[in-house]
Amino acid sequence: MTFTDLGMIPSIIKALEEENYSTPTPIQEQAIPSVLAGRDLLGCAQTGTGKTAAFALPIIQRLSEQQGAGNVPHRIRSLILTPTRELALQIHENIEAYARYTRLRCCAIFGGVSQKVQERSLQQGVDILVATPGRLIDLMNQKCIDLQHVQIFVLDEADRMLDMGFIHDVKKIIAKIPLKKQTLLFSATMPPEISKMVKSLLVDPVKVEI
Ligand code: AMP
Repeated sequence: MTFTDLGMIPSIIKALEEENYSTPTPIQEQAIPSVLAGRDLLGCAQTGTGKTAAFALPIIQRLSEQQGAGNVPHRIRSLILTPTRELALQIHENIEAYARYTRLRCCAIFGGVSQKVQERSLQQGVDILVATPGRLIDLMNQKCIDLQHVQIFVLDEADRMLDMGFIHDVKKIIAKIPLKKQTLLFSATMPPEISKMVKSLLVDPVKVEI
């Protein structure tokens, strides 16, 4: 199985070759075709399985195809929520590499650093936003962020969000995203609170377990 077999476009394949990704990991094989087809996804997978590319690659492809050669404005069409700054940085770095040959812009926002630089990146226009919940809420309250155009929403490490006390913030953020969207939810475990969220948030999801 190759990334081409999974339906990936040449601009992404080229970037993957440069990253020395020759074969998809099992979670990528299972997830990529469904996400490309627009399905919701429930992923029970740990970090280290290739989870990031499993959601990032089809998101990049869908948004990049929409953009085409035309002059689509840069606005947040995908939001990726993750619990920690380290994960946000890692996901951002991966997306920058995979999307190198597209015209998409990605930005990461998280707490513990000055807001100013992040505000400036946002003002320049962003297609894919990677964020931790606290800083996202702060910027939303200051009207720096518009989530009205989000089409693909990723909730990464949902169970850790719960453990870290972010679940209330996560719910507030979800309330600001359009109801009609594609949702990808990843969680290593399924505590009752997350299971409830899965039922309310995902529509007929494809389940992927590693
Ligand atoms: P993740 O589970 O997303 O944190 O990925 C774990 C590591 O595997 C990261 O360093 C990725 O760059 C790498 N990786 C992901 N997918 C592939 C692949 N198909 N081939 C080689 N390395 C990969």
